[in-house]
Amino acid sequence: MEKETETIKIEPKCSKQIEETKCICSACGNIWFYGKEEVRESKLDNMHNLGKSMMCCGGCFPALLIPNKKGIDLNKCPKCGSKAIKKEIIVHNV
Ligand SMILES: [Zn+2]
Repeated sequence: MEKETETIKIEPKCSKQIEETKCICSACGNIWFYGKEEVRESKLDNMHNLGKSMMCCGGCFPALLIPNKKGIDLNKCPKCGSKAIKKEIIVHNV
């Protein structure tokens, strides 16, 4: 008896994974998604705002002339502003 060996080759396809975060607002039921780009952007905006507040040294610099960048608050519902949100990470294989 010959033993048949079946080789199943699973080629590692260059599958790209996209990670998304699904947010559900407990207050109004709003559902929205954000990806890594938004997380990055919001971090950059926070850094920008932080840098601005550090520049202000007691009124010698017109810090008021620098507009506050409106960052995306990822922990807030964009619809009602509630912070009662649930997060779920979803991974898509592309
Ligand atoms: Zn909401």
